[in-house]
Amino acid sequence: MKTFHSRYFICIPFFLLLLNGCASTKNQHAHEYDDVITHAGLMVDLSKGEYDGFYAVTNLVRYGDHGLGTFDGLNGEMIVYSGVIYRADAACHLAPIPVSNLTPYAVVTYFQPDRVFDVEKMSQTLFERALDMRRKLDRVPQAIQVSGIFKSITIRSVPMQEKPWRPLAKVVETDSYKVTLTNVTGVMVGYHYPEYLSMMHPAGYHLHFIDNQRLMGGHVLDFEIAQARISLDHSPVVQVFLPATRSSNEKPRLTIPPPPVKRP
Ligand SMILES: [Zn+2]
Repeated sequence: MKTFHSRYFICIPFFLLLLNGCASTKNQHAHEYDDVITHAGLMVDLSKGEYDGFYAVTNLVRYGDHGLGTFDGLNGEMIVYSGVIYRADAACHLAPIPVSNLTPYAVVTYFQPDRVFDVEKMSQTLFERALDMRRKLDRVPQAIQVSGIFKSITIRSVPMQEKPWRPLAKVVETDSYKVTLTNVTGVMVGYHYPEYLSMMHPAGYHLHFIDNQRLMGGHVLDFEIAQARISLDHSPVVQVFLPATRSSNEKPRLTIPPPPVKRP
């Protein structure tokens, strides 16, 4: 199936927007995208219930080996780890990628950590506090991996939706399935985004999980680390593929608010 999209680059803090075709579309060298986060779609659209896939899932690995997202029709949770794309089905079981092979929303980057440190016995609250203290630039998105043993981790997934689409918050409220895994080894992959980019990705921490046995996975709701290695990767450039076909007469658009001004 042919897919249509436009691509924009956002260079933080310069906000240089390049229209589709201005930048190379070939990823012959992974290093070209080392510090680039690539979006297929925007969170603001997914939140409203725009679940029609428009970007080929298999194409995501051209732009990153780490990431998260969902599938056409909100058909489960996506986890991208070490260059492999996983899908957690409605019951948080890892399952094959759907035949449609399209995503309405996904975020990937080549994970090259700037900072790595080990922690023990850490709640989600303490984890977020620890990362808040270590974050160098609040204006720049950050890719995160947390690999280790979890005393407990609560994950959720959602079943494929039928049209008419309902807003994401409503789907999560009525349809999501939650499970708590205990004493499980695995990895959380995800991002921290600043508030002013919340139209692209939820502000704050957003993590997905897969276990080491590759049996279970999903969107992380809560966790307690027994022992883990935390790796952080600042990514100062964001590029976005936007759906060009979603509304027949509507052109792809992207409006980015200016970055917050730091007062002296
Ligand atoms: Zn998620």
